[in-house]
Amino acid sequence: MFFKLDSFSLIGIEAVKVGVEIYISRGMPSFIIVGLPDKSINEARDRVKASIINSGFTFPMRKIIINLSPADLKKEGSFYDLPIALAILVSSGQINDNYFNCSCFIGELSLDGLINPVRGILSMAQKAASIKKNYFFVPKGNENVAGLIKNIKIIGCHDLIECIKILESKEELKKYVYISKKFNGVHSRRYDIDFSEVKGQSRAKRAMEIASSGFHNLLIVGPPGSGKTLLAQRAITIMPDLNYDESIEVTKIYGLLKRPNCELIIERPFRNPHHTISEPGLIGGGIYPKPGEISLAHKGILFLDEFSEFPSKLLESLRQPIENKSIVITRNNTSYKFPCSFMLILAMNPCFCGYFGDKNDKCKCSKKEVERYWKKISGPILDRIDMQVNLPRLKEEEFFGNILTETSHAIKERVKKAFAIQNDRYKNDIIRHNSEAGASYINIWMNQNKDLGKIVTDLSKKTQLTARGISSLIKISRTIADLDNSDEITRDHLIEAFQYKILSI
Ligand SMILES: [Zn+2]
Repeated sequence: MFFKLDSFSLIGIEAVKVGVEIYISRGMPSFIIVGLPDKSINEARDRVKASIINSGFTFPMRKIIINLSPADLKKEGSFYDLPIALAILVSSGQINDNYFNCSCFIGELSLDGLINPVRGILSMAQKAASIKKNYFFVPKGNENVAGLIKNIKIIGCHDLIECIKILESKEELKKYVYISKKFNGVHSRRYDIDFSEVKGQSRAKRAMEIASSGFHNLLIVGPPGSGKTLLAQRAITIMPDLNYDESIEVTKIYGLLKRPNCELIIERPFRNPHHTISEPGLIGGGIYPKPGEISLAHKGILFLDEFSEFPSKLLESLRQPIENKSIVITRNNTSYKFPCSFMLILAMNPCFCGYFGDKNDKCKCSKKEVERYWKKISGPILDRIDMQVNLPRLKEEEFFGNILTETSHAIKERVKKAFAIQNDRYKNDIIRHNSEAGASYINIWMNQNKDLGKIVTDLSKKTQLTARGISSLIKISRTIADLDNSDEITRDHLIEAFQYKILSI
């Protein structure tokens, strides 16, 4: 007898429909799974057999063939235990095939029949809704995240027996549908760090505020002990919380890790990988590609401390993702795409010893050594860093003085307003921030104030600004104008933006 039901597989961040087909025939008792399964799927045979028997049913002593279609897509994981067990029970006549046409299933079985949560559930629920299924049977523990998706009814099952009871029930299925909690966007995370703890450094703080408002990449250069790390870690405390769509996107990425119970993520991610990280760890990769740090920082901050310590090859590999806001990894003729739209913050010393430019003349490096130091990190990657700021060591009176400094909350309120202006500006576009704006927007802004063209031409003649540098200068000016609640970019906005181009001067 032939029977088929629907389940899902993951390709990168997206789910695809997988048909679990079964054919039971006479012949030597056997249990074969075909359709490019990996080792973990082949192990499903033992789990499924034990859980069917331990749930009080009979495992048919026939020739059983399971095909996971499409057959050319390599499949991994233990997602298909539940659909395989159900397919065996229906085709051996032990349960009815009610609701199977309008439902889809996912879940890993334990030997005693318990259904364990799986990863990637949010992507699968989205797919289930898009192929117009009515019900999606998921493991208990996955239902809260799956329930966030509209247009699909989620039913969470604790074990195989409960799942079958629901499917065989004479009552309406809606009784079992998970009622999801409402998205509460106003909840914002409290951090135990705050900008008010950083004394002085008003220029760098202003740079951080501008960078966060427009999602511009930022490089902080300063001697050891100047507070580069302290400042960068606090950037996340001034960024507005994620909106609903962004939360779903970020949760989808985190849901691919081995953390199947993860709740909806509301706060922006902050990732701070060490310079010894591998390329797959940073960019993403593996036999079955998984997201790397750049994707885990999606919609948030990627902070590379001691930037100059990162191997050049690793930095080069960042170029394309910074540009494209996504990374595509190809394995077995399949392309896995992961989004990675992050704000990059880099921190580094000004030279090998760390004290170049320090007022106490502590630097021991020769001119050649300083040049060699900068050469290592310069080039295409630095050209993609919109803003650069120097962070001098504090004078003693600044460090210990009772200077009142602004709290993260106060700065965040201004960043929120700048975000709102950009949301309105790009409401009909796919971009969200000034840093992503293309030539058409830049032309519009330049035409609003005829004087800007001349200032920009003068500046670029006197400095080493590249075409990319000029366009980023105008985008930073736009963000400063947004913080100033100004429709037009003025000369002052442009001049301030230019102060964050120290490497081009
Ligand atoms: Zn030095």
